[in-house]
Amino acid sequence: MSDQHQNAIQQLNKVAKILEDSYSDKNRFKKAVEILKQPQNFFTGEITIAMDNGKKKKFTAFRSQHNDARGPFKGGIRFHEDVTAEEVKALSTWMTWKCAVTGIPYGGAKGGIAVNPRELSPSELERLSRAYANFLADKVGPWVDIPAPDVNTNGQIMAWMVDELQKNVSFDRRVSQNLLATFTGKPLLLGGSEGRDEATGLGGVLILEKLAEKLNFKRKKDITIAVQGFGNVGYWFAYHADGLGYKVVAVSDSRGGIYVTDGLDPASTLACKMEHKNLQHCMCSHDACDIKVGQQISNQELLELDVDVLVPAALENVINKENAHLIKAKNIIEMANGPITPEADEILAQKNILVIPDVLANAGGVTVSYFEWVQNLQGYYWPKAEVISKLKPLMDNAFEAMWTMKEKHQTTGRMATYLNAVKSVIDTMMIRGRV
Ligand code: NAD
Repeated sequence: MSDQHQNAIQQLNKVAKILEDSYSDKNRFKKAVEILKQPQNFFTGEITIAMDNGKKKKFTAFRSQHNDARGPFKGGIRFHEDVTAEEVKALSTWMTWKCAVTGIPYGGAKGGIAVNPRELSPSELERLSRAYANFLADKVGPWVDIPAPDVNTNGQIMAWMVDELQKNVSFDRRVSQNLLATFTGKPLLLGGSEGRDEATGLGGVLILEKLAEKLNFKRKKDITIAVQGFGNVGYWFAYHADGLGYKVVAVSDSRGGIYVTDGLDPASTLACKMEHKNLQHCMCSHDACDIKVGQQISNQELLELDVDVLVPAALENVINKENAHLIKAKNIIEMANGPITPEADEILAQKNILVIPDVLANAGGVTVSYFEWVQNLQGYYWPKAEVISKLKPLMDNAFEAMWTMKEKHQTTGRMATYLNAVKSVIDTMMIRGRV
């Protein structure tokens, strides 16, 4: 895990090498790059909760605030047994780039607790979430740092955290700060935004539309798409791609997937998955399921399908040096965070496979989180159509900026995206006079 922060630093070094030429004051530029290699603030501590058996248990909690030149720190909270200081530092760095990519006025952060939440009862999970909110209390706020859900955390957990913060902070802080705007990804009943659930998948499809325009895809119904992961992100990606007329030929979950040459209907496939608890039985004669011709495939087979667009939307590192040479897709849209390892990235570039990187492709989620914060601050809530209409130009512009940089430097989609993001952060640091 400690490699992840080193990876983030190496990526930054690579980008800096290309960007350096465009800065006349090289020393100032180098100083900014050095600052960006470490988080501005890093907090860790033990939090203790009472377990259901009456015993006390300690957990290690983290929050990394990477950079706030462009605006308050923003980033999720992860509950996972593998959470480490180095992982949280790396993820907070990537959040700085992700926010810069769509131009939303935030810097990057990430937090977490080293815990396997599946080993906790619901009441232990609530106590842990509330304890973490107290750990965060003097580090967050609507103009300072705005956490959100990440792996194994959700709207309910954000609701407990908002409630705990509101209960425990001083009266002065309660009247001067809109504490609802301190967390995003909240349930609709507690200031969440319409459209947040599907925002990441939909944002990815807006990127697919731009890609189709640039690559001159002629008939959408001939463009084949395979989606690994049929959870929140994978489902909504498949749903919106299908809705626009693309042919989604394969989807999978943790147990494997299905492949239907003529294309499948994501909505009825989901209904069938809900009934059967997995996808592999979704070639049944159930009313909700229109997939009667097709075949079961493994996750590995899905990744190796000869499709126009492959969409990893499940886990990190699924395309790595062991299988990158087997990938036949012409384009990859990274909807999961970090599904392609750096070694695999090089192999894919040599094979001329175009990769749209995660910090651009899945930025729809954090962008609608930003809309949630705006709605909380103004106390006025937008219908879903308005949320979506505001998402589209930000995703479109981010894609265009990437494409222009890619053409200018004849580089990969990932490098082009990073060049734009890092430049925007460094320029803002310079305007502020931080370097
Ligand atoms: P999720 O838990 O809703 O869905 C994950 C899906 O992946 C499930 O269908 C699960 O069955 C499947 N899966 C698990 N192990 C698998 C395996 N070994 N092979 C194939 N499929 C497997 O999670 P999500 O919110 O959809 O997030 C998916 C990815 O997108 C993660 O990398 C996440 O960090 C990233 N992401 C999510 C959001 C968001 O708004 N939810 C935003 C940005 C990035």
